[in-house]
Amino acid sequence: MADPATPQPPHDWRPDRFMVIAAHPDDADFGPAATAASWIDAGSAGWLVCLTSGDAGSDDPDADPLALAALREEEQRVAAAIVGYAGISFLHQPDGALANDLALRELLVREIRTFRPDAILATDPEVLFHGDGGINHTDHRAAGMAAVDASYPAARNPMAFPWLARAGLAAHNVRRLYLFWSNNPTVHVDVSATIGRKVEALRAHPSQIRHPDKLDERMRSWAAEEGKPIGAAAGEAFRLIVIDEDTDEAPGSATDAEVAADS
Ligand SMILES: [Zn+2]
Repeated sequence: MADPATPQPPHDWRPDRFMVIAAHPDDADFGPAATAASWIDAGSAGWLVCLTSGDAGSDDPDADPLALAALREEEQRVAAAIVGYAGISFLHQPDGALANDLALRELLVREIRTFRPDAILATDPEVLFHGDGGINHTDHRAAGMAAVDASYPAARNPMAFPWLARAGLAAHNVRRLYLFWSNNPTVHVDVSATIGRKVEALRAHPSQIRHPDKLDERMRSWAAEEGKPIGAAAGEAFRLIVIDEDTDEAPGSATDAEVAADS
């Protein structure tokens, strides 16, 4: 256990291209928005994939799910522009019933092979409970598992959904996963410069924010907690999974032959 008096250095690896895969509109903004904004400001290109459009995200049983989905997609588009994503894809899966099935995996492999991200940010699929204080939404678990399974081995295996490679979507190696809302974070990104953008992006989801007056304080105190291990005013925590080491970090990392042998 690190001595809290001697902070660890902030995580400073930055992907050239990254993709956030989220279950619902607003997950990416409650999740890694400040890290995304900070990487984009430094020159990275980011893409957001929303698996559902949040069509069950209301307290009103008479709400029209299609109208709600359209509203939430619009909110997410505004928020994504604030963060600075190059674009966003909505995969229109059912809210509350997201399944990590082969059909979703193929859709995600298409997204990954099209944008070709070095890193994928997704919810930690191993979180069933948030510590002892709450249950992780079934869609967040399914979304995390779908992101993991699409990243490895499917996206890098040309024989997974072979019609994709035949149609020009060549296999692609995702090198890292950054899992957010994890019970076991291993790295912390300093987001002191972009925490305000995260709050601004969250304000673009008025259908989901019950107490907008308390939003700024709530998000800054959460970020302050996650900044503590690195001695930063604001941080975002991730469980980092390195699939392929950078060649400069570990010469001779996974070769194509090893990848084929794994599949
Ligand atoms: Zn959610």
